Amino acid sequence: MVAQREWLEKDYYDVLGVSRTASDKEITRAYRKLAKQYHPDANPGSEDRFKEISAAYDVLGDPAKRKEYDEVRRLGAGAFPGGFGGPGGFGGPGGATFRVEDLGDLGDILGGMFGGGGGRTRRAGGPRRGADVETELHLSFEDAVRGVTTAVHVAGEARCETCHGSGAAPGTSPVTCPRCNGRGHLDEPQGLFSLSTICPQCSGRGTVVEKPCPTCKGSGVQKRVREVKVRIPPGVEDAQRIRVKGRGAPGRGNGPSGDLYVQVRVGKHKLFGRRGRNLTLTVPVTFAEAALGTTLTVPTLDGTVTLKIPAGTPSGQTLRVKGRGVPAQGRNPAGDLLVTVEVAVPKKLTKEQRTAVESLDRELAGLDVRGHLGASHE
Ligand SMILES: [Zn+2]
Ligand SMILES: [Zn+2]
Repeated sequence: MVAQREWLEKDYYDVLGVSRTASDKEITRAYRKLAKQYHPDANPGSEDRFKEISAAYDVLGDPAKRKEYDEVRRLGAGAFPGGFGGPGGFGGPGGATFRVEDLGDLGDILGGMFGGGGGRTRRAGGPRRGADVETELHLSFEDAVRGVTTAVHVAGEARCETCHGSGAAPGTSPVTCPRCNGRGHLDEPQGLFSLSTICPQCSGRGTVVEKPCPTCKGSGVQKRVREVKVRIPPGVEDAQRIRVKGRGAPGRGNGPSGDLYVQVRVGKHKLFGRRGRNLTLTVPVTFAEAALGTTLTVPTLDGTVTLKIPAGTPSGQTLRVKGRGVPAQGRNPAGDLLVTVEVAVPKKLTKEQRTAVESLDRELAGLDVRGHLGASHE
């Protein structure tokens, strides 16, 4: 099911812990805080919560979508005064089944939101927005860091390739509807008022197809696999959803297309890790290198850099190589490469090495490294 189904069931304001009147800034702030807190990298097992937070922000973080969401919730609340989860609501214990065609105006709006399915049984067929579509995209670690323009393949409803969505057979075009003269609605005088209804002949489109396209039987829509080009910005995270506006399922009756949501899956790297916009790397050094200081050549995603390890660097110390993380983009500055120095301890020593370490030990016996713990050198 597409995202909008959730709109009636989920209170996104609640998910982000903000009020219905929160400003865009407050919403973004709440989202950033929660996304950090529940990021699956930091919190294994929090994937579902993270997804829920992302889904809420996808809607509330986009002023146009937020308005649409508020409207759907407002209409939904009117139709189901008991709330959506209660008896009579969606999937309520009373067993009431939600039927788009029962709801009149609300049904029209919801029919457009939900797309597909219920559409065929609707009484009136004005323009309808296409369904939102989800797909997954697997990226290499490098592509996720640098950003990439690539293509995803989406299976399902697409604009008919034979008639380009018009529904008319090749060589013909839709003509003005004779019943409503292209207005899409009929006005019937009712005393002082006139009642406007959607034209049944053209379903509100204002045009009719005389000879339907043989591929799509006049619907303008066909099931096939289509390719959608997507531009992935630098620094996407695993499980992040990217919205590609207007590239979901096509609308009906001149309705707009839905959106495509690309869920990104990021592969691992054999050397580097990611922490937000920073890359991480662990570099083993010997005790002598850490104690005396040294200069190392360390890899980055783009060639190597020289890194000075100061004398007396403790194991676990992190050194920063500026600007070697996720590249800068827009208002986001470049991330850094965080190099963690780890003193390597040999598992086995030759006889000579052992003698040397023992002599070092005697030499360093005067250093009181554990004094603050009350533990001493035996
Ligand atoms: Zn067609
Ligand atoms: Zn008509």
